[in-house]
Amino acid sequence: MAKVKIASEWLTGCAGCHMSLLDLDERLVRLAEAIEITSSPITDLKHTHDVVVGILEGCVANSANVDVAKQMRQNCQILVALGDCACLGGVPTMRNPLSCEEVLRRAYVETESTVDGAIPDDDELACLLSQVRPVHEVVKVDVSLPGCPPSADAIYFALSELLAGRIPVIAGDNLRYD
Ligand code: SF4
Repeated sequence: MAKVKIASEWLTGCAGCHMSLLDLDERLVRLAEAIEITSSPITDLKHTHDVVVGILEGCVANSANVDVAKQMRQNCQILVALGDCACLGGVPTMRNPLSCEEVLRRAYVETESTVDGAIPDDDELACLLSQVRPVHEVVKVDVSLPGCPPSADAIYFALSELLAGRIPVIAGDNLRYD
């Protein structure tokens, strides 16, 4: 039987949600019999075409995040927002009351940094969005899995349901906030 292709990417967050994914431990081995990971932040694989389940961790905070979210939406049949940053914006929205200029000034000028008090202006760098946004405000999301980070149990349940062809409904007592 062909394996179900799964891609995961992170946007702006702390990577804690992907660490929770790794907490599946031996259940990852069980899942590996049914899935093929075609893209992941912790591997060099970056094939996001013809993916059945796409997982996005983190909020949309800059132009590069917008591009990744749109690419994942285009290439994945089912898009999952993993964690509070992806579902609601989460901790990074704390910068929303400030302008981009103020955020950059505080980060690079007022805080000790490795760039000598200069705000980087390389054209290759992604541009900050004026507001941090949850993924669903940028592209359509099919499944929201909140939590900070979501528990390994909740992630396993969601993936198992998706592999069985069902859209998972996460019970409230399965939500975790550490
Ligand atoms: Fe990190 Fe929590 Fe955001 Fe996940 S939801 S990326 S654990 S801050």
